[in-house]
Amino acid sequence: MYDFLIIGAGISGAMIARDLSKFKCSVALLEKDNDVANEATSANSAIIHSGHDPKEGTLKAKLNVRGNELYEDLCKELKVDFERNGAFVVAVAEDELPQLNFLYNQALSRNIPASIITAEEAHAKEPNLSDSVVAALELPSTGIVSPWEVAIAAVEDACNNGVELFLGNKVVSIEKKADHFVVTTTKDEYLAKFVINASGVYADDIYNLVSDKKLFTITPRRGEYYVLDKQTTPFVDRTIFPIPSAKGKGVLVAKTIHHNVILGPNSEEIEDKEGKDNTQPALDYIRKEVFKTLKNIPLHQVIRTYTGLRPTGSTHDFIIEEADDVANFINVAAIESPGLASAPAISEYVLNEIISKKFELVRKESRVERRPWIIINRMNYDEKHALVQKDPAFAQMICRCEHISEGEIVDIIHRKAGAMTVKAVKRRVRPGAGRCQGGFCEPKVVAILARELNKSPLDILLDSDDSKLLVGKTKE
Ligand SMILES: Cc1cc2nc3c(=O)[nH]c(=O)nc-3n(C[C@H](O)[C@H](O)[C@H](O)COP(=O)(O)OP(=O)(O)OC[C@H]3O[C@@H](n4cnc5c(N)ncnc54)[C@H](O)[C@@H]3O)c2cc1C
Repeated sequence: MYDFLIIGAGISGAMIARDLSKFKCSVALLEKDNDVANEATSANSAIIHSGHDPKEGTLKAKLNVRGNELYEDLCKELKVDFERNGAFVVAVAEDELPQLNFLYNQALSRNIPASIITAEEAHAKEPNLSDSVVAALELPSTGIVSPWEVAIAAVEDACNNGVELFLGNKVVSIEKKADHFVVTTTKDEYLAKFVINASGVYADDIYNLVSDKKLFTITPRRGEYYVLDKQTTPFVDRTIFPIPSAKGKGVLVAKTIHHNVILGPNSEEIEDKEGKDNTQPALDYIRKEVFKTLKNIPLHQVIRTYTGLRPTGSTHDFIIEEADDVANFINVAAIESPGLASAPAISEYVLNEIISKKFELVRKESRVERRPWIIINRMNYDEKHALVQKDPAFAQMICRCEHISEGEIVDIIHRKAGAMTVKAVKRRVRPGAGRCQGGFCEPKVVAILARELNKSPLDILLDSDDSKLLVGKTKE
């Protein structure tokens, strides 16, 4: 019997698992996919928002501001990248200035560093801003991360410190007994005293496995993006937002932590919780919208597109509470934007405001520190040379676009919460994330996965169970 069972290994479940691993308790983390951080956490804008935007009085506002404060130290502890590169919200017409001022005053009221700057000052800092820009709200505390790297590192860290991760375990039923839950998945059955529902767009369905109450519904809101090649950087240094609308923060242009540029997202409510295809109307809309705030956009440098689904709740705020009709069942639901930015604060809130009132959290005396991923591209010649002397696999180049060696890939396969699919390898050390999008390296990654996991290459998956890459041999 576990003390805590977390459903969903996105950024919310990952952060809660990691924070619980600091205390003397047993934790199971259940995830339906073949890797952690595979849903909303893997397809978003990756912005650690300052907290200027959410509506006053909401949990979103409170936890976003706190999350932004916590991120830098979190990323240092996890040994993943974080850059506080700042953001501009730009007004492109005089009639947008009242709203810019509203956001400025809201930021100041939350002690968020902010200033309104003139069009000239904004252009001096971001030369590719559109000539229509009339003023900008500068938000220097805004940051960027790789969202899945933060979540994967948090799960690695949690597993190094006792959390048990169960991938490929889709929760299909939950039974409430007198003092525990029986959680059944597609693979097994688990007993736990507390259940934490961090299952993204499925959080309403998961809650309704154990309650008939229609406390909330989750509607997927699709957002699509273009990714531009690294060669375009520095196109913008900060994240550039338009004035927000009722639908959200609008189509932004941002540099990523790995120095690509992203353009998007749109915002479209859909019914299908798996509706992650890109659509031409959305991509056309993004191409049109980005030119309202920027010029000279190198659209010929698009290397891929992607889509994410926001888990939008019917209450229009995060729902983070123990269900009033199911004792010890904690919903962490409707975590749409700014859920990434808020994640460390969401976890802090769950532990301090909910769990600690029902369970004595006793700190462990010691912790195993997470070892960072090996990235030879960032090493100097002597460091690379020393590594290659120890293991020649670090001289074997697998990805030419991102300069990734076989040694780096082997290392991330054999860790706790290690990579088991081609996409999982890509998300940890990036083969396939470069200009050729895996054209050169993908067969090599398949071969390494097969060898290291002792499987046939025919059984290696791109991502989900129905994504086999190879169907048979063409030659003996
Ligand atoms: C287009 C878009 C842009 C965004 N931009 C930003 C941004 O710039 N900044 C920001 O702060 N936030 C942003 N967000 C929001 C942010 O991505 C989410 O708030 C965050 O990723 C939610 O994390 P989560 O862990 O709650 O959900 P998810 O990442 O969706 O994780 C839920 C997990 O539960 C698992 N699961 C579901 N059902 C089951 C089941 N039955 N059994 C087992 N496991 C299950 C899923 O497979 C998944 O891994 C954006 C979101 C989108 C879609």
